[in-house]
Amino acid sequence: MATLQSACPLDCPDLCSLEVEVVDGRVKRVDGGTRTPITDGFICAKVRNIADHLYGEDRVRHPMIRVGAKDGTALGRFRRATWDEALDVIAERLREVRDRAGGEAILPFHYGGSNGWLTEGALATRFFRRLGASRCLRTLCALPSGMAARSLYGAVPGTALEDYADSKLIVLWGMNPSATGIHLVPIIERAIEGGAKLVVVDPRRTPLARRAHLHLAVRPGTDLPVALSVIRELFASGRADEGFLAEHTRGADELRRRAEPWTIGKAAAEAGLSDLDLGRFVDLYAETSPAVIRAGWGMERNRNGGSAVAAVLALPAVAGKFGVRGGGYTMSNGEAGWGVSAEAGIATPEPATRAVNMVELGSALTDGAPRVEVLFVYNCNPTQTVPDQNRVVRGLARDDLFTVVHEQVFTDTCRWADVVLPATAFLEHREIRRGYGSMRLYDSAAVATPPGEARSNNQVFGALLEKLGLWRDGDAMTDDELAAAIFSGDAGGRLRAQLDQHGVATPPIERPRLFVDLAPATPDRKIDLVPAALDAEARGGLYHYEADPGTERHPLALISPAISQQISSTFGQLRKGEAAAELAPADARARGISDGDAIRIWNELGEVVCRAKLSAHVRDGVVVLTKGLWRFHTRNGQSSNALIPPTTTDFAGGACYNDARVQVERHA
Ligand code: SF4
Repeated sequence: MATLQSACPLDCPDLCSLEVEVVDGRVKRVDGGTRTPITDGFICAKVRNIADHLYGEDRVRHPMIRVGAKDGTALGRFRRATWDEALDVIAERLREVRDRAGGEAILPFHYGGSNGWLTEGALATRFFRRLGASRCLRTLCALPSGMAARSLYGAVPGTALEDYADSKLIVLWGMNPSATGIHLVPIIERAIEGGAKLVVVDPRRTPLARRAHLHLAVRPGTDLPVALSVIRELFASGRADEGFLAEHTRGADELRRRAEPWTIGKAAAEAGLSDLDLGRFVDLYAETSPAVIRAGWGMERNRNGGSAVAAVLALPAVAGKFGVRGGGYTMSNGEAGWGVSAEAGIATPEPATRAVNMVELGSALTDGAPRVEVLFVYNCNPTQTVPDQNRVVRGLARDDLFTVVHEQVFTDTCRWADVVLPATAFLEHREIRRGYGSMRLYDSAAVATPPGEARSNNQVFGALLEKLGLWRDGDAMTDDELAAAIFSGDAGGRLRAQLDQHGVATPPIERPRLFVDLAPATPDRKIDLVPAALDAEARGGLYHYEADPGTERHPLALISPAISQQISSTFGQLRKGEAAAELAPADARARGISDGDAIRIWNELGEVVCRAKLSAHVRDGVVVLTKGLWRFHTRNGQSSNALIPPTTTDFAGGACYNDARVQVERHA
């Protein structure tokens, strides 16, 4: 037995260091390591139990080629193939389609759930760029938030999670660390023990909301007016930091003008809050220092999402919360000034080919022009993660669509594939990953042997680059060569030395404080409170509010948050039992629904049949059907994405997962 060091690249802010016990190439036990202070020896259950994922019956072990009808079933529909045969079939189809219909008839479809810079698509990206394929706009999460943060502050990290220990007020806005980013929880607990106050802004009474001094259970999609009302009140009551605004920001007068319509009363009515609670929040925020806002991704998933994030991130500037440890904001800490990127390994510029928004996959497959003839899915499970599920499945069911899926386990998307390829999981290949909460970077070697014939993304796309003649002299092809390219510059050399010595790298400034250790990375080093480019792109202009899309027929807001077992559809095969949709008791009573009843949730896009769970932790008017369900979790094989519209956020084209409006009834 050997105990080996690794790091967790799952889509989670914490980027834990791991200690992995391996016997004969097989993972026996995984636990938290100590190379990252934030991990501090403990990790979540999903990664502690990852052996169930690696060696479970759903693991794809060999290449498979379709032999039966494309009807969404699995049994008897595939035969085992060799890698050579499968890659030849794929290469032949790609070549034929590119030569006849053009590269844009090929659509790579990928996300990055459990991948870092090496396997998120280093060679895949190079391959599809050189092929002239359509581009996949990765809009399912964080694009509007990232654009808002970069536009206001430039590419700088926010407050380090460790620094929350120094905060006297912590605001969790659209963020549930008990499910996503568990290592913040003990830090918050310690801060509370030291006298800090906690405010949670979330439609649900999350575990931390139950312990909060103030919980603002906003209606989904109303974070924008709430944040604008706080801004308005800070100005109106003379508690805006005018000196800081004059010296360090641009656009304060315009922000104030745009916030003006949102009185506390008007915002509270729109968000379903009491005036008193919203006023208490303003007082707490204005009067407490250090105060930090942990901005989550929950608030971006609606029609107002981009502006909502921008308004929330403007708050610490208006209230003058920077310059002290434990003050400011945290959105993504991925922009920690690493000075290296995956592009160095890809070494091929992005072509100006057609861009397909992931949110609109259904229409791209059913109506798009040029017609998509090859869909190549990797690091993604679109039947369960993309809005307008029924339309996505209609597209995948096309007999004239050739679909390749490179996957670790046999997902619902594999059921629609023409070729399924077995993929390695993160303990089975080398990976480079930097955190977007924890500011650390790891280069982790493979520690386990892949079961069956699983191959990494780079192995697959390296072979395809060669088969299609897209390989060029001097290309970095192996993981070692790609890693060398990524760490080739001065900044990379510094990181490489740290990695070699300590097994982990830190950014140039650890625990940076804005306006003490670094300035905003905007052109004039000021916070831009109404960035012109964002204002031009935002539907209706930045900070414009679009009203709730609910109707008399579909009045309830459906949200689908992450849970501790799943922050994406990854590990869905391990989640047992039928899904339950949570309803507020009053909403259930009004519909004659009791706990455990079968219910039908529906709107004009589709329906989901599952169990009802009455919960005092859900506010009225809201239905919760959690993220990551697979078809076997509901009675009709549909998940929340069957009800989620393919509409986009006010800017950046982000997914509006929380804009589904539905009706619920007892199911016979
Ligand atoms: S807490 Fe997050 S980073 Fe840590 S092991 Fe779990 S998923 Fe990975």
